[in-house]
Amino acid sequence: MFSDELAKISWEDSTRAIYSKTSTDVERALGKEHLDVNDFMALISPAAEPYLEVMAQLSRQYTLQRFGKTISMFVPLYITNSCTNHCIYCGFQHNNPIARVILTEEEIVNEYKAIKKLAPFENLLLVTGENPVAAGVPYIERALQLAKPYFSNLQIEVMPLKAEEYERLTHSGLNGVICFQETYNKANYNIYHPKGMKSKFDWRVNGFDRMGQAGVHKIGMGVLIGLEEWRTDVTMMAHHLRYLQKNYWKTKYSLNFPRMRPSEGHFQPNVVMSDRELAQLTFAFRIFDHDVDISYSTRESAEMRNNMATLGVTTMSAESKTEPGGYYTYPQALEQFAINDSRTAIQVEKDLKRIGREPVWKDWDQAFDR
Ligand code: SF4
Repeated sequence: MFSDELAKISWEDSTRAIYSKTSTDVERALGKEHLDVNDFMALISPAAEPYLEVMAQLSRQYTLQRFGKTISMFVPLYITNSCTNHCIYCGFQHNNPIARVILTEEEIVNEYKAIKKLAPFENLLLVTGENPVAAGVPYIERALQLAKPYFSNLQIEVMPLKAEEYERLTHSGLNGVICFQETYNKANYNIYHPKGMKSKFDWRVNGFDRMGQAGVHKIGMGVLIGLEEWRTDVTMMAHHLRYLQKNYWKTKYSLNFPRMRPSEGHFQPNVVMSDRELAQLTFAFRIFDHDVDISYSTRESAEMRNNMATLGVTTMSAESKTEPGGYYTYPQALEQFAINDSRTAIQVEKDLKRIGREPVWKDWDQAFDR
């Protein structure tokens, strides 16, 4: 399990190592085709900041070689904001006195129909809070079954499950699972996740092993930028990616590193990542791993998403609603977080075409039959 591997890696030593990288380390990393995590640390370090343009060109080249000009589009659908967890940065956290919604089957289907009217989305990401009793595996399973006539690629972002539960959902069309570890800093993890199942660090971090064991086709990993020192956090994610690739080599992987946006909980980010740093991180991950899918959500601005669509990003959401039933049933309810890019999906498509990209509505593997 990855928790055993992580226990061998010191957070403090990693931070020190990143901040002691030099231009020699950066140039050595840039000269390699197959990078290790140590090289990745050089590319995200302050020492690499003067190399941003070189990194951008390398990242563009690897992305074109592996993905062509295409950007895979997806849409998230929140089917419930009911949650037993207490993540202090989230508007859906248990103690927040908001109206709780668990969409009925009829409401879920109405959402699917409304999404299909926006754009020809085939990639659906079903999102829930974490309430295993009221909206657990049978509820998610039913939502997947109902989605099958409308979408050809189904992913979920829900509470970590048992391996047999992931396996069960694959029989209802589940193709991918996204889970945010949020932060790999185990010592501080419970500051942000004080109660509920999400407070159990090892259960969450080992959930990726259970996805691999269950044969989930695609695993999405994520760090929430704004909690801890971001350079160290993404270094741990790079270790995790390599570990998973070694142990579950048939699985495809995607990476997410959204920057925190204001939410109802009034939590202010501890760490602010600049646009330049976000670009540096994106390039570093592409140079580190040529094949991994890199995803940007609507938390990022239209300008940032357009720029990075030519330089390393391969998957994007569009016209996202971050409230349950936001496309049809409850368009005015509380959002989980505020989005930054409010363009319609069709506008996003037009903008991507204008800059020479080819938006595809199917998943990568479906689009290219890989
Ligand atoms: S981040 Fe997810 S698990 Fe945490 S409170 Fe929000 S909805 Fe619940």
